[in-house]
Amino acid sequence: MDITIISEASNESLHPVTAQLVGAASSIGGQISVICPGGVGSPEAAKISGVSKVISVEGDCFDSYDCMAWSNAIVPFIDGDLVLTSSSAIGREMSSAIAAKKGFPVVQDITSLNDGISVSRSIFSGKAIEEVEVSLPCALSVRANTFQPAEGGGNAEISTVNVSEEVSVAVKEALAKAGERLDVAEADIVISGGRGMGDPSNFSHLYEVADEIGAAVGASRAAVDTWEEIPHSMQVGQTGKTVTPSLYIAVGISGAIQHLAGMRSSKYILAINKDPEAPIFGVADYGIVASWEESIPALKEHLSAIMSD
Ligand SMILES: Cc1cc2nc3c(=O)[nH]c(=O)nc-3n(C[C@H](O)[C@H](O)[C@H](O)COP(=O)(O)OP(=O)(O)OC[C@H]3O[C@@H](n4cnc5c(N)ncnc54)[C@H](O)[C@@H]3O)c2cc1C
Repeated sequence: MDITIISEASNESLHPVTAQLVGAASSIGGQISVICPGGVGSPEAAKISGVSKVISVEGDCFDSYDCMAWSNAIVPFIDGDLVLTSSSAIGREMSSAIAAKKGFPVVQDITSLNDGISVSRSIFSGKAIEEVEVSLPCALSVRANTFQPAEGGGNAEISTVNVSEEVSVAVKEALAKAGERLDVAEADIVISGGRGMGDPSNFSHLYEVADEIGAAVGASRAAVDTWEEIPHSMQVGQTGKTVTPSLYIAVGISGAIQHLAGMRSSKYILAINKDPEAPIFGVADYGIVASWEESIPALKEHLSAIMSD
């Protein structure tokens, strides 16, 4: 089977989710090619074990994200039966556009992949897992942090193609803005604040911890609804984003069922809440019963020490 992976970029280098896509592809076996839009991260992609070919597709259209321009530029180089993207906002849009242009079916946000091919994904806010039998060819977007990343040590050939002449150039700012902060849906560590933070300015304490440990900052719906300074893009939960990080830190969040729907599949959950009866402690692996004012400075100090070791 030929598998084509569309790489994901972050700040002009390869996003770690790309190695997870290779890990997912390797789990079913086949010839794996990676297409790097704009050529971003091609040398890093070539070093991922299991990758046999990297196609660095370059051109003016990749200066800023435009789904139509990117997919038009990329599709001619896809010869796989199976196309994998991440399930970031860009990854989902790209998988849909590629599937439409190639006439493939598409399944979004899968969390497992078996030879055959059957895939699964969570539905109804994570309350049920849907198994889907798909036939090749098809396109799949893969949820970040659900597959083991492939190791380094590869040495794939890189071919570079320039498509400047053939595609349109689009507007720049959207992508640059999106890249400013890690997105909660893709980060490996997420620290979220709730109404218990008391005031939106207090989220600066969460950003300080996040900067220390490379985390994304999220929020409960009460926080985003109450304070306009906290954007809805940060909301985790049933009507917000679903996250599956290795570590989720909930600060001043009670743990309403709708919030749990978006974060309970995190690998480890640390809850900080001054109310020992808060439902969040029911799903937490670790709990600190204290105010955030007391516990966040201590947590930050502790994490700084760990990170500098
Ligand atoms: C249809 C529907 C969809 C919804 N979707 C979502 C969703 O996607 N995401 C979501 O989050 N919610 C969602 N909600 C809202 C949800 O029901 C809760 O209202 C919301 O999650 C509560 O947010 P919170 O935990 O921040 O606030 P609260 O429930 O008010 O909890 C605040 C917590 O902070 C603690 N606290 C207070 N002060 C401190 C302090 N100084 N230090 C430490 N802890 C402190 C309190 O003990 C309390 O537990 C939805 C609701 C509905 C009806």
